[in-house]
This record gives sequence, C-alpha cells and structure tokens, in this order.
Amino acid sequence: MRFCLLAALALPSLLTAEDLKWFKGNTHTHSLWSDGNDFPDMISAWYKDKGYDFLCMSDHNTLNAGEKWVTEASVEKKKIALGPKVLDKYTKKFGANWVQTRTNAKGELEVRLKTLEEYRKKLEEPGKYLLVQAEEVSAGFGKAPIHINAVNLTEAIQPKKDLQTIRETMRANLQMIAEQAVKTGRPILAHINHPNFKWALTADDLAHVIEDRFFEIYNGHPGIYYGGDPARADSQHERIWDIANSIRIAELKQPPLLGVGTDDSHNYHGGATTPGRGWVMVHAVKLDANTLVEAMQRGDFYASTGVSLNDVSFDKTTRTVRLKIQGQPGVKYRTEFRGTLKNYDRAVKEVDAPAADPRPKRLQHGADIGKLLASSDSLEPSYTLTGDELYVRAIVISDQPMANPPQPDHVQKAWSQPMGW
Ligand SMILES: [Zn+2]
Ligand SMILES: [Zn+2]
Repeated sequence: MRFCLLAALALPSLLTAEDLKWFKGNTHTHSLWSDGNDFPDMISAWYKDKGYDFLCMSDHNTLNAGEKWVTEASVEKKKIALGPKVLDKYTKKFGANWVQTRTNAKGELEVRLKTLEEYRKKLEEPGKYLLVQAEEVSAGFGKAPIHINAVNLTEAIQPKKDLQTIRETMRANLQMIAEQAVKTGRPILAHINHPNFKWALTADDLAHVIEDRFFEIYNGHPGIYYGGDPARADSQHERIWDIANSIRIAELKQPPLLGVGTDDSHNYHGGATTPGRGWVMVHAVKLDANTLVEAMQRGDFYASTGVSLNDVSFDKTTRTVRLKIQGQPGVKYRTEFRGTLKNYDRAVKEVDAPAADPRPKRLQHGADIGKLLASSDSLEPSYTLTGDELYVRAIVISDQPMANPPQPDHVQKAWSQPMGW
C-alpha cells in the first residue's frame, strides 16, 4: 500500500491521493504595513499574476488590519529611483476610485492602506487564489533577531523580547501563537525564520526548542546566508536542518523540523529582496487556509526554488521514499538522499565564533550528520531505508540557476521533508 508522505494515515479515511492537489504559496511577505515598499494589494496581485495559489502577507508585528495611512513622501522614499512612482503604479493598476487619499495638517498627501479583508474581495477567487492573514512576530534577544511567522491569525501578536535566554524568548513567542490557535480553534502555522540573520540562531537552538515544528530551509532575502559562513561552525542551512533533526529524533525523541521555502520579499520595484524566489507546494484537498495549514502540519508539502515534483511519497511497508520530478526539457537533475545513521558520532566541540556573533562560542557537530546516503540522476529517484537511518530526506538539485537568485550560485532546487523517522 502506498501512503502520501508522513502522515497520510491522519487523512480522513475516504480520501485518496487522487483527491489531493498541489497548491503553490509564499508564507513570508512584507508590504507598506511594515517595511515592504509596495501596497499590499499590488503585491497580492503580483503573486496572483505569477500563478501562485495562495499568499500570506506577514508584516512585522501587525496584521493587515485596522486603519493606517502613509504619506506619499514616505511611500516614495521606499521606491527605487527609476520607473513610475509607487502611487502612480498603484492608481494605474486599481483605478482612482480604489485609491483613498487625503491631505494631512502639514499639507502632505496621505494614502490609506487597504486591509486584507478589503483587498481579498478584489483579488481572491474560490479554488484559484487565496489570501491568508499572517504576521512576522519579530522578537529578539539582545542583538539576535528572533522572527517567527504565524500564519492564519485572527489577532495581532505583540512579541515578547529579551527573556532569560534566546531559547526562552523563542519559546515564549511560540507559546503565544499556540495559545491563539487554541483560543480561536483555528490551526496556526508557526515557522522560525532565517536562523542566520545576524547569526542569531544555531542548530542546537532549533533542536531544543521543541515547541517549534518548522523552519526556513530557504528564504530569498540575500542577508540570510543559506550557505552559511565558513568562519561559523555548522552554519549552512542544510547542516542546521540535519543537526537539529538528528538531535530531536535520537536524543529528544521528538519529531523532526519541517522545512519551508519563502521569499521574505520587501522590494517590488527592483532592489535586493524581490519576490518569487522560494515557496512551498502544499498537497491538500482544497484551497482553504485551515486545510492548507493542517496539510503542512501533517508534513504534506515540499519547499522549492524552481524544481517541481509531481509526487513525493513514503511507502511504509517497503520503507521506500519515491519522488517524481516534473522534468523540463534540457534540464538535468540530481537527487541527493541525505540522512543521519542511528550510530552517528554525537560528540560536539566548542569552537570560537567571530567577534560579531551574539554568542562567543558555537558548537561543532560530527561530520557524519546528514551524510549523503545515495544520489540519482533519474526523474523517478527512490531510496529504500536499510533500518540504520534516523530519517532520510531528498534534495533535488537542477543544473539551472534560479530565475532571480539572491546569490549568484543559488540553483533551482526542491526539498522533501524528512521521512522514515
Ligand atoms: Zn525576519
Ligand atoms: Zn521578514
């Protein structure tokens, strides 16, 4: 018998794999509601035009709700020098009747930001495009930013900062998000963002804060260092994921972290943090916020920067991971199956961190964590677990650069979730 990913057993019993569709979405986006440089309705229209099925607008410490006016000058300050003005573009796209302006006491033109409830009426289409209320709960400990995206919120969450430790600060904010899910009866997805932003979070932080279930394996912001830094031990995102998952499964007897791909876009008129770089493909029965979040909580999704999969599955009987890659003409794919064996070297070494780090020492873990178990050039690669693995995950790496990479060496990839644990 064949099961779809980790927890197909949790699906209602009459549901089959044929009932499920793949939905493309970005869970990390900024607008003028915080530090993004375009109107939220413009950004939502951009994602819709690009074929996304859903978008979560996740401004810092605010929902897209309530009344907020921005001055034309403050909007224009955020645009790049070339091209039409931000307000002109907005008016051209939606018409003068949609754009609400006023003149303040200083004689400046102000523009009201539309709330999600307003602009969803204009842009959503049942089964085709969905907007989901979200927030980047932006806490911190000293100079270490602790940013957690909360998806499917109904009320804004004010971050708790500088508790006893980095991990306690992470926990307290995750706890508030979990409490809102209980209170509202709606599933809420929380993902820890960009661990390498200002080198704030390590693999050990992500392992031991077991309240967290998701982290960004990929984030399109150029300042997040997916590839890590050779001067900082175990700082590559792939290493962070494998170390955290090995500790969770082997030592803490906890489920592994699941990996999301996101944009973290801020710039929509050129610039460094543009949209369309990282996303998730969620396997769900319908395009609905609760359904999508529940599918992700079951692990029924993958992360991508360009590679599409027709299927990813784990057969519990034969303990086999199978992928079906949606091959594009002339493109070569290599799939790596990575995992950690049960007898891995658990010794850790304390090594110095560069002076600018939030902590003076970092931990260096054994080289056999997240080792390459097998690789394949097939469009239908598979891996059968021997029984020695704590888990296995697949990374499909194409020979094509990303369309708009934040770093020149970033190629199109897809990441499965850890399986077989
Ligand atoms: Zn952030
Ligand atoms: Zn962000």
